Amino acid sequence: MITIQFAGAEKDWKTYQSLIPEALASKNIETVFQRDVAPENVDYIVYSPSGPVQDFSAYTKLKAVLSLWAGVERVVGNQTLKAPLCRMVDGGLREGMAEWVTGHVLRYHLGMDAHIVNPNHRWQAGTAPPLASERRIGILGLGELGQACARSLNCVGFDVAGWSRTHKNVENVSCFSGQDGLEAILRRSEILVLLLPQTVETTGIINTQALSLMPKGARILNPGRGPLIDDDALLEALETGHIAHATLDVFAKEPLPEDHPYWRNSNVTVTPHIASETRPYTAAKVIAENIARGESGKPFLFEVDRTAGY
Ligand code: NAP
Repeated sequence: MITIQFAGAEKDWKTYQSLIPEALASKNIETVFQRDVAPENVDYIVYSPSGPVQDFSAYTKLKAVLSLWAGVERVVGNQTLKAPLCRMVDGGLREGMAEWVTGHVLRYHLGMDAHIVNPNHRWQAGTAPPLASERRIGILGLGELGQACARSLNCVGFDVAGWSRTHKNVENVSCFSGQDGLEAILRRSEILVLLLPQTVETTGIINTQALSLMPKGARILNPGRGPLIDDDALLEALETGHIAHATLDVFAKEPLPEDHPYWRNSNVTVTPHIASETRPYTAAKVIAENIARGESGKPFLFEVDRTAGY
């Protein structure tokens, strides 16, 4: 019998309490799935950084920690964790992100605000937007979520480029990597989407120098992680008009403090970390698949590279 501890957020227990055992039963795996288990008996932990387990030292027979979150920056450096760590990649999370990004890109591309927010009822004729094929979008981070967004933007017809640590070949996407690649993608991006993980290398990647390379009037979407952006540098670029607008879903401190300048800036849209989230029904299947793999000696899916930090 395999013992699995649920160490996710308290509010999620009710949902996963039945979904995970059902997903495991469909793979003929018998388990004990509980919240309160003696650590030395636990084989797998279903985990979220906001859950109760921060110290893994007492989990002496742990085979893997299976996170319900895509981002792992809060656990990847945990020195008490010696077992493999897997992050969440699920279809629902991907779809949600592709929809959020495509929606906000279209808002910018079509200049929707000029007509939705038009208190003086001005007839602004002669302002048809260019076609999507004439609009250059850049995505920093060509992983699970970045590629899902690229596919969705491609379907609308946008000219999409992406940047990653290792070089990629993605159909209909101009792929860049390395420092030169970063400069090249920044120079061409009228709308830049940040979907990098938060690591030592990516923290503050959107700084004064990076922003200065972008075309005047460019827009930024950040559904990745708050610390990717140097906030002072972005506020300065918004002030000068070099960056026309930013839509930010994630922040260095969440919830975004009430007195933060982003709230007061008419060229910033704040969304409260809702770009996408793990969908329990599909996520339970991913967890069950990984436990099945662990039990049959196959490599885990979506295992985090602890050295790279994501
Ligand atoms: P992923 O599959 O691990 O992809 C990460 C991408 O970033 C990869 O293409 C990777 O390059 C690239 N990258 C990492 N470090 C880099 C560096 N130093 N230089 C250049 N490229 C680098 O992650 P994902 O599943 O797409 O998720 C991305 C992030 O989205 C998560 O880490 C999380 O922070 C965020 N997220 C936000 C929400 C929300 O609601 N706002 C929801 C879920 C996730 P390689 O391909 O070469 O490895």
